[in-house]
Amino acid sequence: MKKIFAAVVTILILTTAVVIAAPPQFDTPYIGNSYRLTLHKRTCPSVWQMWVEHQVPFNTREEAIAQGYHPCGNCRP
Ligand SMILES: [Zn+2]
Repeated sequence: MKKIFAAVVTILILTTAVVIAAPPQFDTPYIGNSYRLTLHKRTCPSVWQMWVEHQVPFNTREEAIAQGYHPCGNCRP
């Protein structure tokens, strides 16, 4: 039982450490998260917590919404 508990704790620590901060990869006014299908302003702090691989550039919010993205509740693009 103790071994399972230790394994779960280790996994939790590892997954939290995986959260990497990276600046926006694009100069477009909007950046989408292809994993969660959320749309953010480039200045939103959430963009910094996004995996680089998940960042999608958008010039207009209409373009993103047409592709199924939902506006972020924090930055309200
Ligand atoms: Zn946002």
